[in-house]
Amino acid sequence: MTSQSEKPAASLILGGEPSLQTGPIKVSFEFFPPKTPEMEETMWRSINRLAPFQPAFVSVTYGAGGSTRQRTHDTVKRIRDETALTPAAHLTCVGATRDEVDEVVRDYWNAGIRHIVALRGDPAEGQSKYVPHPGGYAYASDLVAGIRKIGDFEISVAAYPEGHVDSPDLITDMDNLKRKIDAGATRAISQFFFDTDCFLRFRDRAAAAGISLPLVPGIMPVTNFNGARRMAEMNGARVPDWFAKLFEGLENEVETRKLVAVVAAAEQCVRLRTHGVDDFHFYTLNRADLTYALCHILGLRAMPVEGSKSI
Ligand SMILES: Cc1cc2nc3c(=O)[nH]c(=O)nc-3n(C[C@H](O)[C@H](O)[C@H](O)COP(=O)(O)OP(=O)(O)OC[C@H]3O[C@@H](n4cnc5c(N)ncnc54)[C@H](O)[C@@H]3O)c2cc1C
Repeated sequence: MTSQSEKPAASLILGGEPSLQTGPIKVSFEFFPPKTPEMEETMWRSINRLAPFQPAFVSVTYGAGGSTRQRTHDTVKRIRDETALTPAAHLTCVGATRDEVDEVVRDYWNAGIRHIVALRGDPAEGQSKYVPHPGGYAYASDLVAGIRKIGDFEISVAAYPEGHVDSPDLITDMDNLKRKIDAGATRAISQFFFDTDCFLRFRDRAAAAGISLPLVPGIMPVTNFNGARRMAEMNGARVPDWFAKLFEGLENEVETRKLVAVVAAAEQCVRLRTHGVDDFHFYTLNRADLTYALCHILGLRAMPVEGSKSI
C-alpha cells in the first residue's frame, strides 16, 4: 500500500489546493491474462514497470464465460510467487456450477491468494441476455456469499456510477451494491466513466444509502477512442461530446492520442482528488506508460520495493 505523496498534485495542475481533506494515495492496477508469448512479455514488462508505485494490489481479469480460468489462475499465482506484489483474482459466475466455482476459490486460498474480485460476468458467447447457469451462482452477491463461506478473503465487487445496463433504475442498482456489501464485500471498484460528476453523484448516493466502504473509481486512459466508445455503449457509460471531440481527427495520430489520453485522464484523477478521493484503480489494458504518467501526476513516485522479486 502506498503512503507517499505528502502534497497532492491537485495544486500542480489546477493551481488550487484540494478542497477536501485527502489522505495518502492508494493505487491498484488491472491486467488481463495474455493469450500469446508476445502479449505475456508485454504484460510482465508493464507489471514490473508499475510495481515501484507500490500498488495496494494488482488484479487479473477472468475472460468472458470463464474462458481464461487457467490463464487467470497462472498469472495470479505467478504474481504471488515471483513478485513482491499482492495479486487479486477476478472470478465470475458464468458457465460454471457452484461446486466448480468453489473449487477455483479453494485453489486460490490454497495458493495463498487472499483477494478476489467477485463478479456476475457478462452473457456467455452467443447469448444476448444473461442467464444464470443452472446450479451456479446467479448473481455477484451470491458469489460473494459463497466466497465468504470458504475463506477470509478480501472481496472487491463492481459498482456502476451510471447504473448497470440490466438495472431498471439507479435505486435498484444501489440496492444491488448494498446486497453485495451485506454479503461480505470489502470494496467496490467502479466501471470506467468519462463524466467525473457521475462518479461524484454516485458517491453521494452511496453515502446517503449508508454505504461506507471504499468506493474506488476505475480509471481508463483511452488511446483507442472507437474501441472505448464501443465498450462504453456495452457498459452503459456515457461518452460526453467534449470527450469525443478531444479525439476528433486523431485517427492516424497514435502518439498524439496517447498525450491527449493522459491529459483527459489526469484531469479526471486530479478532479477526483480535489473531491477527497484517495483510491484509484487503473484499467491498464496491460500497458504501463499511461498509467505510469497518471500515477506520477497524482504525486506518486516510483520507489524501489525492498525485497522486490521483480521478474
Ligand atoms: C471493476 C470491474 C471488473 C470487472 N472484471 C470482469 C472480469 O474479470 N470478467 C468479466 O467477465 N467481467 C468483468 N466485469 C464486468 C461485469 O462482469 C459485468 O459488468 C456484468 O454485466 C455485471 O457484473 P456484476 O458483478 O456487477 O453483477 P451483479 O452485481 O450480479 O449485477 C448484475 C445485474 O443484475 C442485477 N441483479 C443482481 N441481483 C439480482 C437478483 N437477485 N435478481 C435480479 N437481478 C439482480 C443487478 O441489479 C444488475 O443489473 C468487470 C466489471 C467491473 C466494474
